[in-house]
Amino acid sequence: MNPLLLDKPFEKWQLGNVPTYRMEQLRHWIFEQGCFEWEEMTNLPKSFKQELSTHWDLCPMEILRSQGSTDTTRKFLWKLRDGQLIESVLIPATTGTKGIRSSRLTLCVSTQVGCAIGCKFCASGLDGLKRNLTTGEIVGQVLLARNQANRRIDNLVFMGMGEPLANLPALLPALDQILSEKGLGIGARHLTLSTSGLAPKILELAKYPAQIRLAISLHGGDDQTRQKIMPINERYPLNTLLESCERFIAERKKMITLEYILIEGVNDDLKQAELLASHARRLNAKINLIPYNRVDGLSWKRPSLEQIRAFHQKVEQGNPPRVTLRMEKGHDIDAACGQLRLRENKTQKTS
Ligand code: SAH
Ligand code: SF4
Repeated sequence: MNPLLLDKPFEKWQLGNVPTYRMEQLRHWIFEQGCFEWEEMTNLPKSFKQELSTHWDLCPMEILRSQGSTDTTRKFLWKLRDGQLIESVLIPATTGTKGIRSSRLTLCVSTQVGCAIGCKFCASGLDGLKRNLTTGEIVGQVLLARNQANRRIDNLVFMGMGEPLANLPALLPALDQILSEKGLGIGARHLTLSTSGLAPKILELAKYPAQIRLAISLHGGDDQTRQKIMPINERYPLNTLLESCERFIAERKKMITLEYILIEGVNDDLKQAELLASHARRLNAKINLIPYNRVDGLSWKRPSLEQIRAFHQKVEQGNPPRVTLRMEKGHDIDAACGQLRLRENKTQKTS
């Protein structure tokens, strides 16, 4: 296996005394055309391509499976060069009314193979962490999903497999390439990182120059509730986490989002709704309520629609800046992170 070209920022691509404009042509093929075949790069000399291919690998992964659902959410299972599996999910959203409709595409991106954080409700963490993704494997998901969609991707959410803030050394250079006009040209405000609450890393991220968005997986209004499902809360208890959020917000002058998945009998009582609203007021943060998606082999359930509505209403009564209830798209294709890989790995083990 050669080193992966995309692991290196394109500004630093060089090979012997190959002129810069050749490297610029190469960048164009990859980032503008989404081309991952040396032979298709018709304006590059054969000798140059031969030289490149003896030193570098071009394609970070191949598509193993693509699964679409009735609401046209599409999930991709990718096989990395070392055989590990990761997922990305493409989620369309149609906005606007009557004649003027615009459809936006969001890609949910993975940052690790598996996850070390071990939230008890999550499919990604069930087998622990296999490894971090490299910069090229993160950027590659966007480039290859764009090829599959055959159109521009408008938004990115780092809510696939893995904890993004546990992989900052590979992630930040990936963000540089995603944000760059010469890279994928996606605007910082169209990019959201989600974290389970690695408080010190939130402060580190606050220093990253671009104004990317931050979402916190809260899932509990007090330590006792959060601890039941998120062991990370022992390391960074709620107040430590909220303080790091306050510092992030003070530095960035930007609203953050509190994500709250609703799990029956665990975090869905109305007292939690009040606490959630009060944390959101303290941080001037938006709230995203997400009913839990069932995971094979785990017994957690989403609450009844009635309970979800009551919780939503109680949160609203607490006057947080904004609350949205996100009835998950792609529920029927295991859209929650890590589930397709989990199933594939199980099938491979039993066959
Ligand atoms: N590790 C990061 C980002 C990846 S998970 C984090 O935890 O924030 C992205 C989001 O999906 C998190 O809010 C996570 O709690 C949520 N999630 C995980 N499993 C889920 C499930 N089965 N149903 C609904 N949301 C889930
Ligand atoms: Fe990891 Fe996020 Fe899943 Fe928790 S919810 S195990 S942090 S991927």
